[in-house]
Amino acid sequence: MKILILGAGVIGVTSAWYLAKAGHDVVVIDRQPSAGLETSFANGGQISPCHAEPWANSSTLKTALKWIGRKDAPLFFHFDHLDPSILIWSIRFLLNCTSFRSRINTERILRIALYSLSSLQSLRTETGINYDQKTTGILHIYRNKKSFNHAITVAEMMNKIGLLREIKNADEVLSIEPALVSIHKELAGGIFTASDESGDAYKFTKNLANLCVKRGVIFHYNTTIIGLEMTAGQLVSVATNNGRMKSDAFVIALGSCSPSIARQIGINLPICPAKGYSTTIVITDPNKAPSVAITDDENKLVYSRLGNRLRCAGTAELATWNLEINPTRVNIVTAKSRTLFPDIGDFDNPQIWCGLRPVTPDSIPIIGRTQISNLFLNTGHGTLGWTMSCGSGRLLTDLISNRLPDIDMSGLSLNRFRII
Ligand SMILES: Cc1cc2nc3c(=O)[nH]c(=O)nc-3n(C[C@H](O)[C@H](O)[C@H](O)COP(=O)(O)OP(=O)(O)OC[C@H]3O[C@@H](n4cnc5c(N)ncnc54)[C@H](O)[C@@H]3O)c2cc1C
Repeated sequence: MKILILGAGVIGVTSAWYLAKAGHDVVVIDRQPSAGLETSFANGGQISPCHAEPWANSSTLKTALKWIGRKDAPLFFHFDHLDPSILIWSIRFLLNCTSFRSRINTERILRIALYSLSSLQSLRTETGINYDQKTTGILHIYRNKKSFNHAITVAEMMNKIGLLREIKNADEVLSIEPALVSIHKELAGGIFTASDESGDAYKFTKNLANLCVKRGVIFHYNTTIIGLEMTAGQLVSVATNNGRMKSDAFVIALGSCSPSIARQIGINLPICPAKGYSTTIVITDPNKAPSVAITDDENKLVYSRLGNRLRCAGTAELATWNLEINPTRVNIVTAKSRTLFPDIGDFDNPQIWCGLRPVTPDSIPIIGRTQISNLFLNTGHGTLGWTMSCGSGRLLTDLISNRLPDIDMSGLSLNRFRII
């Protein structure tokens, strides 16, 4: 079958890889000059099933209230641009902020994330793909006893679902990652997930796109999608600045831009952009730099060692499309990483970046069919698009190829938003 994938981020490219492997004729279009140049470009780099707790959880509202009015708050809501779809998204988000919903959503996220990690590992073995990967685990750190206790409860829940997360005291944290010596005395403890990984999502996407080309996938870059064209209840073509493109089936993998394109044919996708920042510095003293990936949960910042670079990412501004760099917010990211790892490199000249996470109200991506039988979705991966990319691409491929997916697909499609 001929399949046209809209979007060449990490999700579109992994979809292309698995669809081509399954024998389909795959074409990918993207407005950028090559793959992975938007949200997949400089993210936090963590392959983190351990981050399966959704943004909407029982402690979110209490924490968010404390942050209101603070320009340096990890989470910021742009009330000035509210449109009705964001309002509905917010109501859905609030309805997911209960312990009951959070537990269901954590299980669903973990289900995809663990499947995705094993899919990535197989892909790595099969292709030998390189992306500054590290397989040394992710260490969550806590200075505050209360947030550490909350994290222990979540970790115990994940342990029951199938992800081994180990509770560590301050000394154990330091022996896992000696580069944290500057905050040893402040630490309440940590949680270590040895099976988690990290790596450069952009390098991965770019290299996998090259492997896709070798398998016969055709990429049309500098091609902006303008509209979707229907005939007799079927999607027949996509209108672009480079002309009309026909296909048998279509996949929307446009990240935060998915809703505006899907809306043209009456499909409402509950996806809100959440802007985040990253800073990347060149490491000049590797002995002082971390070798495991780290999550500073209280500051909502993640750190990944990518070869001779340290990537730090975080902060979230909901409901904004503005991709300008706000110096106040990006400087927080640089300053916090400098405090944590002083003297490891050139913090005065960081490479700074921002991107828009495509976030659903329950933090679960939308993978599956739509009411239009030849249109499929693989979008809304929020904070974990890199983590869930390979698994999502494989699941989508199984659905399109009428094969039984390896994992339970319940609660992953757009249908879950029919009621709320
Ligand atoms: C600060 C930050 C830190 C993050 N850290 C992590 C992390 O540590 N681990 C993790 O798992 N995830 C992380 N994420 C999330 C992850 O980066 C995203 O979920 C993922 O990149 C989404 O991939 P995507 O392919 O859906 O979207 P994108 O990468 O945005 O791809 C969508 C593509 O669609 C194209 N497009 C859009 N509109 C059009 C159009 N009209 N015509 C043609 N092409 C179009 C774009 O050019 C783009 O290439 C982070 C995100 C941010 C912002």
